[in-house]
Amino acid sequence: ATEDWHNLSRTEGRNLGDNHASVKHDLLGPLVQHEEEGERLLGVLCVGGLATRSRDEKLMLQMVTNLGAIAYTNARNLSRLKDQANKDGLTRLLNKRFFMQRLGLLINTSEREGRALSVFIFDIDHFKKYNDTNGHLAGDEILKSVAQVLRDNLRPGDVACRYGGGEFIVPMPGTRDADGLAAAERIRAAIERTKFPRGETQPLGCLTISGGIAQFPMDGTSSNDLILHADQALYRAKAAGRNRV
Ligand code: GH3
Ligand code: MG
Repeated sequence: ATEDWHNLSRTEGRNLGDNHASVKHDLLGPLVQHEEEGERLLGVLCVGGLATRSRDEKLMLQMVTNLGAIAYTNARNLSRLKDQANKDGLTRLLNKRFFMQRLGLLINTSEREGRALSVFIFDIDHFKKYNDTNGHLAGDEILKSVAQVLRDNLRPGDVACRYGGGEFIVPMPGTRDADGLAAAERIRAAIERTKFPRGETQPLGCLTISGGIAQFPMDGTSSNDLILHADQALYRAKAAGRNRV
């Protein structure tokens, strides 16, 4: 709080105790959130420079701080709710529902701006085997780690989605042909390089993924079409021996 005070431009480095006109606060009102368990202090609203200090002004400030506390709490709860509704609880990647909305918007933008868009889908190889050998909880840890490797290898601003069990989707706006394949291949190689716990128990000797890519507009112009074609490419990668895009 002391730092906040000194960062206020109008305090000009003065201390609260200096009692200078520019740092005087006429009214101080706590922003209090009333909860079942009691009260929680969110912050303090300070009002200075009032000509008079009447009882009415204090009541007014109390009203403002009460409303401010409610508004602040609502805004924070809303942002938490949005986060919970749009993200997968395990990996914190976008969930399928929210991702489908996002993909629709990305397609619209690509169409309007005449830009390419690659959609990369990948799936963990022999993931059922990993669960069977190491347990479902260890499998959950793999999902979290794969999501982290994915995040570490995305371009700034790109978002990824957990599409299903061990299946993930990465839209790559503005990326076409060889560039999309190179980006997907970078992610595949990063997963192969990562030392996952008990990865050596996997049939290929380490944890791997297989992927497929579809491009807007030549492989499809709708979300469903692009995902269908990327998925078909993914299954060709599985059939060809896995650990490839
Ligand atoms: P393939 O190489 O052909 O993909 O083989 P696979 O065993 O990975 O087969 P598939 O992708 O069809 O199986 C997905 C498996 O993912 C099934 C299930 O055991 C596992 N799975 C799905 N959701 C979860 C989850 O939330 N946690 C864990 N631990 N496992 C999951
Ligand atoms: Mg799989």
